[in-house]
Amino acid sequence: MSSVLVRFAPSPTGRLHLGNARVAVLNWLFAHAHGGAMVLRLDDTDIARGTAEFAQAIRDDLLWLGLTWTREESQLARAARHAEAVDQLKAAGRLYACYETPEELEYRRRRQRAQGLPPIYDRAGLALSAAERAALEAEGRKPHWRFRLDHEETSWLDLARGPCHAHGGHLSDPVLVREDGSLLYTLPSVVDDIDFAISHVIRGEDHVVNTAVQIQICRALGAEPPHYAHLPLVLTAEGGGLSKRDNALSLGDLRAQGIEPAAINALLAALGTAEAPDPLKSLDDLAQGFRLDAFGRAAPRLDPADLVRLSARIYHALSPSEARARGIAVSDALWLALRANLTTLSDLDALLPVVEGEITPLIAEEDRAMIDEAARLLPETPWDATTWATWTAAVKTATGRKGKGLFMPLRRALTGADHGPELAALLPLIGRDKALARLRGERA
Ligand code: GLU
Repeated sequence: MSSVLVRFAPSPTGRLHLGNARVAVLNWLFAHAHGGAMVLRLDDTDIARGTAEFAQAIRDDLLWLGLTWTREESQLARAARHAEAVDQLKAAGRLYACYETPEELEYRRRRQRAQGLPPIYDRAGLALSAAERAALEAEGRKPHWRFRLDHEETSWLDLARGPCHAHGGHLSDPVLVREDGSLLYTLPSVVDDIDFAISHVIRGEDHVVNTAVQIQICRALGAEPPHYAHLPLVLTAEGGGLSKRDNALSLGDLRAQGIEPAAINALLAALGTAEAPDPLKSLDDLAQGFRLDAFGRAAPRLDPADLVRLSARIYHALSPSEARARGIAVSDALWLALRANLTTLSDLDALLPVVEGEITPLIAEEDRAMIDEAARLLPETPWDATTWATWTAAVKTATGRKGKGLFMPLRRALTGADHGPELAALLPLIGRDKALARLRGERA
């Protein structure tokens, strides 16, 4: 494939959610699978809702995921270039003035539907003579501008959906310029894709309806359209749509919950494919052999609980030196004893006192005699990974306790909790003095 350049084009009107992040991740993976790069294009023309803070949060979220871009562009900053494109289309007779109010258009659409006709714009604006236009403007009406579609088949080979086509005669001529002179998203997006030499537009299926129109606009501006890929939108576990307002799935929240970025990347790369997510893969690993046609046509569901599980797998596999590199300040042996019990890093806060701090032992009345016996049988030091087995075998023989009836009271006395890391690994780290004190019921 000749040089691949993709773009991620969010509008800075909210934090990225997993649906947007998926588009970013898949664009990045595709680009990097083909030795290409990504452009970050801020679709910031909605000045009423867009903010610089959201733009910064988007950059931060992308970098947190490990995604990189070689160029950043703001659509707002390119208004002059977009106005030039408007003039070019007007000069070519591809933009025409229309004067209907929204109410008039709605009335016409309703009438068309009542007659069993598709609600396609009737091109009344195109039929106006100069005198009629002047009369409408004298009434105080301001035009909006529509792109005159060619009434022909527009086809493209969608890299995710396969062959696609739409006939211009089955579509309304799209409005590109509003009455107040501002532009809708359609034209600036095409102009920017042309000017930045975007080779592949990879985006959500909600944009399939724009594609034939955008291809026609692109050709009307004298350029060849990019390749397109439209991916099914992601649904929530309940089957609803993801929205920017649904903060539960914003990257900011996931980060605050201690979810690992590699868990997110792995899930987003696998979601909708037949592959199981592998959170131990880096983005570069994921890019190896990445294919857009691996994505099915059905809308995948995203269960945030999967992110918790994938994130936990990252900790379970993290070596002591990797843990240190992340600033986790515990000994190698302690890390190895604790890591299998972590779901997020903040779980460490609850586990560390068992070894490094104090806990209050839990000893039920009916276990007291058995715990006293266990204290008496506590082996002399030095302790190692076999101490636990030797000791509990002796306690079993002496008390007749076995299974849960043996291990649970010991765990509760030694750690103050019903669940936790393997005691075989933990016991030598707790040490004899602390273990003995706890078996005596002392806070230690
Ligand atoms: N800003 C648009 C969106 O977020 C970009 C669409 C596109 O990729 O062309 O939906």
